[in-house]
Amino acid sequence: MPTIFARIIAGQAPATIIYQDELVTAFKDIHPLAPVHILIVPNKEIATVNDVTPDDEAMLGRMFTAARKIAQAMGIAESGYRLLVNCRDDAGQEVYHLHMHLVGGRRLGPMLARRD
Ligand code: 5GP
Repeated sequence: MPTIFARIIAGQAPATIIYQDELVTAFKDIHPLAPVHILIVPNKEIATVNDVTPDDEAMLGRMFTAARKIAQAMGIAESGYRLLVNCRDDAGQEVYHLHMHLVGGRRLGPMLARRD
């Protein structure tokens, strides 16, 4: 079964696409956690960071250059933003198709909540 992200990339499910090239697609998160919340996703189906290989290095670099372009286009390059990748259960990964969250447009606070 293709993931929901694979269906979005293929144009078979709706999403607000922000950027697309031969390696990655970026679209708005359906439940944004900040004024800007974009998901940058490889066009190739890779489940998690555990599944990337050296052959994926061009695509992984493209995720960052796409993030830079999108942050600039969204007007948050100077104010700042956070890039975040969840891997498997302890990180709370929901969709098993590798993706980078680009969040910004407000003060984001500490990177992690303290446990105590
Ligand atoms: P994860 O927890 O796996 O790192 O993040 C998955 C993200 O995908 C969540 O922020 C969630 O809101 C987003 N998401 C889940 N389903 C959809 C969908 O169908 N469309 C879009 N645009 N985002 C989705």
